[in-house]
Amino acid sequence: MRIHVDRTRCANHGQCVFAAPGVFSFDDDENLVYDPAPEAARAAEVARAAAACPVRAVTVEGGPA
Ligand code: SF4
Repeated sequence: MRIHVDRTRCANHGQCVFAAPGVFSFDDDENLVYDPAPEAARAAEVARAAAACPVRAVTVEGGPA
């Protein structure tokens, strides 16, 4: 599974961080950081994060192995 965040769309609102805190977080400057290749066990929370993003900035490729 690969994740991509379109930073031209992302507004750092953080819904993805609430939905999948093991994958998405904010750095000390409050910029979004994320694991671009999370383990398959995180597929459900990644899907919730993608669905939660109000600007549809999160793209997920591939599924659980
Ligand atoms: S929910 Fe979407 S807009 Fe908000 S921080 Fe995450 S990727 Fe960015």
